[in-house]
Amino acid sequence: MPKLLLATNNKGKVREYKSLLSAVPFELVTPAELGISTEVAEVGGSFEENARLKATIMAAESQVLSLADDSGLEVDALGGEPGRLSARYAGEGASDRDRANYLLAKLEGVPREKRTARFRCVIAIATPDGDVELCSGECDGLITFEPVGEGGFGYDPIFYLPELDKTMAELSPDEKNRISHRGKAARKASQLLKEKYSK
Ligand code: IMP
Repeated sequence: MPKLLLATNNKGKVREYKSLLSAVPFELVTPAELGISTEVAEVGGSFEENARLKATIMAAESQVLSLADDSGLEVDALGGEPGRLSARYAGEGASDRDRANYLLAKLEGVPREKRTARFRCVIAIATPDGDVELCSGECDGLITFEPVGEGGFGYDPIFYLPELDKTMAELSPDEKNRISHRGKAARKASQLLKEKYSK
């Protein structure tokens, strides 16, 4: 079976992609499994540009078809922050919980109806010779007043889904994959991988 490199070192993303892409006719491998330790700097001005950068650099380096995702949380009351900076919000060395608490502090005094937010995910699939396809997905919700739930990763404990009356961190992995930004983008990527890239 041909290999597909999941071009990320984020364990939460790897876990979700292994489940979301379990039906594609590729062996899913991580950079560590190929002995690659390159960290691609996210210098692009959009999720699209960063996903494209990460996928093309990793595909050129590994010579393996590569899938990268750039994703993040956009909070309306913060003008779209943390956005592309989601992974680095609250500074170097901060944990997921530190970042969530930092964001909650920034929203102090903001009422429920103004706590609207969305997760966005852009997936880029790149071949070693530089051909790139993009797929995207979004998921709308509200920022809570405190973290709730232990599942998922990142900002999941402070992202509330009104129609489910749960935070993202209270969902099972399958429930999250059904409704998440990454789940939506990955279903489109899965289709492409089957139709365009597997012979
Ligand atoms: P990047 O795509 O590597 O720049 O990092 C994306 C960051 O956005 C993650 O480190 C999380 O902080 C946040 N994020 C992206 N997707 C999710 C998700 O599904 N749940 C919670 N946080 C997420």
